[in-house]
Amino acid sequence: MQFETAVHLCACGCGSKVVTPFGPHDWTLTFDGTVSLRPSVGNGQQQCRSHYYVRSDRIDWLPRISAAASRVASSRDRAAHIEAIPQPLAGQASWWGRIWYRMQRSSGTSRSKLDE
Ligand SMILES: [Zn+2]
Repeated sequence: MQFETAVHLCACGCGSKVVTPFGPHDWTLTFDGTVSLRPSVGNGQQQCRSHYYVRSDRIDWLPRISAAASRVASSRDRAAHIEAIPQPLAGQASWWGRIWYRMQRSSGTSRSKLDE
């Protein structure tokens, strides 16, 4: 898989592009004739603040994300990725460092998860 990521339009219909990178600290896509994404997709950075599961080509809605929940999820995601960055890159654990690491890892080139 070249880019190790999926992009979809937000399920609420707001038109936002939702990027879900794949990996041990990111999302898992399952295709069995239908598409599922795990964990949930939380669009706390978007005005709609939608939150949903993609399960077997269906959208299962969850309550909208509060600003506080979005901050907590972002911090947790950031921490998980910093731990996963090899030591030589740990000093570059800024947003740019993480993007660079992702680009390197996917040999080409890269929301928040709320529920596991
Ligand atoms: Zn939306």
